[in-house]
Amino acid sequence: MAQVRVRFAPSPTGFFHIGSARTALFNWLYARHTGGVFVLRIEDTDAARNTEEFLKVIYDSLTWLGLNWDEGPKVGTCGGGDSGPYRQSERAPIYREYLEKLKAAGRTYEKDGAIWFKLLGDRQEVFDEHRKKTVVKVKNTPAVIEDLIRGRVERLEDEDFVIVRSDGNPVFHLVNVVDDIAMRITHVIRGEDHLSNTSKHVELFKALGAPVPAYAHIPLILKQNGPGKMSKRDQGALIEEYQRRGFLPEALVNFLCLLGWNPGDDREKMPIAEIIRLFDLPGVNQSNARFDEKKLAHVNMAYLLELPADEFVRRARGYFSGLGENAGAKAALAADAGFFREVMLLCQSKLKGLEELPAYTAYFFTEDYPVDAKARDKVMGKGDPAARLRELAAALATTDFSSDTAIEEAIKVLAAGKGLGFGDYQSVARLAVSGTNIGPSITGMFRVLGRERVLARLGLPKEAFGSA
Ligand code: GLU
Repeated sequence: MAQVRVRFAPSPTGFFHIGSARTALFNWLYARHTGGVFVLRIEDTDAARNTEEFLKVIYDSLTWLGLNWDEGPKVGTCGGGDSGPYRQSERAPIYREYLEKLKAAGRTYEKDGAIWFKLLGDRQEVFDEHRKKTVVKVKNTPAVIEDLIRGRVERLEDEDFVIVRSDGNPVFHLVNVVDDIAMRITHVIRGEDHLSNTSKHVELFKALGAPVPAYAHIPLILKQNGPGKMSKRDQGALIEEYQRRGFLPEALVNFLCLLGWNPGDDREKMPIAEIIRLFDLPGVNQSNARFDEKKLAHVNMAYLLELPADEFVRRARGYFSGLGENAGAKAALAADAGFFREVMLLCQSKLKGLEELPAYTAYFFTEDYPVDAKARDKVMGKGDPAARLRELAAALATTDFSSDTAIEEAIKVLAAGKGLGFGDYQSVARLAVSGTNIGPSITGMFRVLGRERVLARLGLPKEAFGSA
């Protein structure tokens, strides 16, 4: 069999939708699975709307997701190839050439200033009640599409259609098919919303004497709650948003694979090499996939957990850097690198996502950390918190803070001596030292903060803390 050639053909719209990302991903996976070629083609014929900035959104999103293209616009190490240019706005002569072929074959005519594609078969003018106009109905046989995901689909195309508008611009159907022919695309993998165009495309392939590619139409991504497909306004719809929020791209890619595909069992987290090995088009579900934020968070957490220490610290730093002028982020980045590293590693296993880091670690980088009112009311309402803090400060004054065990032991001994439990000291100490009732292990927190800062915070409860 000839080498597989697939393409991702986005129109630059200024944002990168999760559905586009998944279409790109399934094309990429199929190319990698078959040892084929992944082409990036920019469908930017709508010149008014398409700017360089919009293109950058596409390149950046694909690059961030790791979906490298073998042929296409040259960006970084991606792109090149001998079927270019890969932007439709630069391919006008090629469209003219193919249009001439259609004209020569007698498959076009002009009407109302536009160029129409002429279907074969008996034709008859009829008045369409619905559209309130006269149209040409053609006795055509339905196009049969052997869709690799949906199975056999038949669609009847029984009306001629415009291929060049009166302003001279070729329409989507023509340029899309011409490019697929010229770029020798073997498999068209795209969203199900294009299924309704496919019969027109099949007619054009045939009229141009070109082999019809294999089709695979991917079902929609439905919004998390309620009916309907995810629109760009829905939470989680835009790839830039995931990038900004510090999701791990490899986790997002893994999650996107699961939107419409599974390995044949209920595994979720899988190395991409394993997904490439198992991925195939008939394995894509026919039914629509539903976006599931919890599953994404779960997958992201699993990836975070398994990042090697250096890599986790690097990504955490990258996330803080991305926050720009944020005061908390600046404080974290200004801290000693070794200290920053210790804080991050202490919290690694506690996070669902990097976006939790600033709030979760704030008190390590400033003395001016907020006190959570709910946590305060809960802790201060029980026993004699001020006494507990004094006792704790005294007990820890000589403890070795380089060891979690030593700190734990000191608190245990203190609690046993007073006939109390570890928890009676832990919650009040956590509140005093971090301003909250959640966080990493208290012993780790104390060790990383160091004795001086811990004792200061235990001895001098913040105003808000003392006043409760
Ligand atoms: N440019 C089309 C879109 O963005 C893609 C068409 C196709 O994949 O055939 O929806």
